[in-house]
Amino acid sequence: MGDLTPTQTTPGLHISKPSPDAPATGSAVCHCGASATATGDAQVQRLVQGWEANHGSAHAKGAK
Ligand SMILES: [Zn+2]
Repeated sequence: MGDLTPTQTTPGLHISKPSPDAPATGSAVCHCGASATATGDAQVQRLVQGWEANHGSAHAKGAK
């Protein structure tokens, strides 16, 4: 799964949850230079929400 982790050359958001009993992990790298990681279902959910609001596709909507 390591090759799915986003990097500065392949920006994006990657969430993984290896098993129902394991905490989710997430990592995100944006083309604007921002990056973040999170561990735990709630933390990953916040990471995704913040990413959607401020990075990723939000850049295309005219947000800076
Ligand atoms: Zn960004």
